[in-house]
Amino acid sequence: MTGRLIVVSNRVPSDGPPAGGLVVALHECLSAQGGIWYGTSGKIAETSEDRLQDVPGESYDMRTFDLTQVEHEGYYLGYANSVLWPLCHRRADLMALNGGDYETYMGVNRRLARMMARDLRPDDRVWIHDYHFLPLAACLRAEGVTATLGYFHHIPFPAVHDLMALPEHDIFPGWIASFDLVGLQSQRDVAAALEMYRSLAGAEHLRDGSLQYRDRRFEVRSFPIGIDGEAFAQEATRGSGRDLLNLAPDERLVIGVDRLDYSKGLDNRLRAFGRYLEARRDDNPRASLLQIAPPTREEVAAYQDIRSEMERITGKVNGLYSDLDWTPIRYIHRAIPRETLASLYRAADVGFVTPFCDGMNLVAKEYVAAQNRENPGVLILSQFAGAAEQMAAALIVNPYDIGEMADALRTALAMPLEERKERHAVLLKGVLKESVGHWTATYLATMERLSTARIEAR
Ligand code: UDP
Repeated sequence: MTGRLIVVSNRVPSDGPPAGGLVVALHECLSAQGGIWYGTSGKIAETSEDRLQDVPGESYDMRTFDLTQVEHEGYYLGYANSVLWPLCHRRADLMALNGGDYETYMGVNRRLARMMARDLRPDDRVWIHDYHFLPLAACLRAEGVTATLGYFHHIPFPAVHDLMALPEHDIFPGWIASFDLVGLQSQRDVAAALEMYRSLAGAEHLRDGSLQYRDRRFEVRSFPIGIDGEAFAQEATRGSGRDLLNLAPDERLVIGVDRLDYSKGLDNRLRAFGRYLEARRDDNPRASLLQIAPPTREEVAAYQDIRSEMERITGKVNGLYSDLDWTPIRYIHRAIPRETLASLYRAADVGFVTPFCDGMNLVAKEYVAAQNRENPGVLILSQFAGAAEQMAAALIVNPYDIGEMADALRTALAMPLEERKERHAVLLKGVLKESVGHWTATYLATMERLSTARIEAR
């Protein structure tokens, strides 16, 4: 094994035990191999300083840095979440362009690069996560860092057409090319990246699959992220979701779980559920929709409309179709712990996952893992989730077509047990095999191969 493993992510899990699947997976890799985890501390500082705080751990160290209020606003809320996020989710129309935010974003990346450059060794493998750090490799190279630099882009790769709307689109290909390995969620993302290099940047596609762009040679590959399906399945059997919800014995349940983000297709999902109720015949089952949608990035202007739209549609559908003893949509604008989610997924006859655009979508995988294998529910999945490439046995829908989604609900709720079991078995096999452990192992093995080749070539 070549040098140390270094991980960089926007937030480090320094304030308690790691919670989400990704954080647990990275924690496990670092625990096994040792290394360093860099990221922001979550604290706000008065002044911006080149100073890292050491948080020593048993098998690896964390090094954190504070952001100033101006940096939090310009780097995190501004360029990362009001420019890059909409850009990558095909909503260039929502980009809030502001040259000051770009400068602040670059400033944070340059500052982190300066601080890391003091620690890094040539044989280190550095694994950088997500769109907060797109220019970090270019900044590290400018500091003279020669270590192997890997990147994983958790969100969709932007379409060329949208990228043209980014004022920095001419330097974007150089940011990406400064990494040695660029990991993307899906084949569709890889195609988008190659298209960018073909049409905007004039890179050369080499025989071994790597790309040559100016003086940089690098690889772009897909590594679809997964979950720990076994652990999630276990969790799902611990409580009864039907009891929690107090469901009547004959009541069917459809579930949606998403941060309240405009990319998740929540408004059309509620409309499709309303359409199902509108067209429901007596022989179609009575079904409720449980939509869990915790708040997210509420300081970002583009997130403010979606909340009132959700409340409006929920009010309208419930007003039209509620009965004395029944409310069709239960909308919860609050986060629910993952343990509880697992039993709610298991209680649901349908997992309704309909993003307009999503890097992967782990909820789709969690829903499948949580099902009772002898009587599984049906997954309805948007063609625009990265997960759709691996989950063709779901009912795949177009989230812009409300009628089609309402039809899919009817089909799912009427699906015979045999077909449900067949589809579920195929989906579950994929979820268990392409796990989060498999994801870290394949990414790190690829980085190790590149790192060895680079060290030998010196
Ligand atoms: N989640 C949660 N509580 C909630 C809503 C979501 O723990 O109230 C978790 C969910 O179980 C999943 C993650 O948040 O693991 C969402 O991941 P996904 O890839 O679906 O979407 P993202 O939020 O990353 O865009």
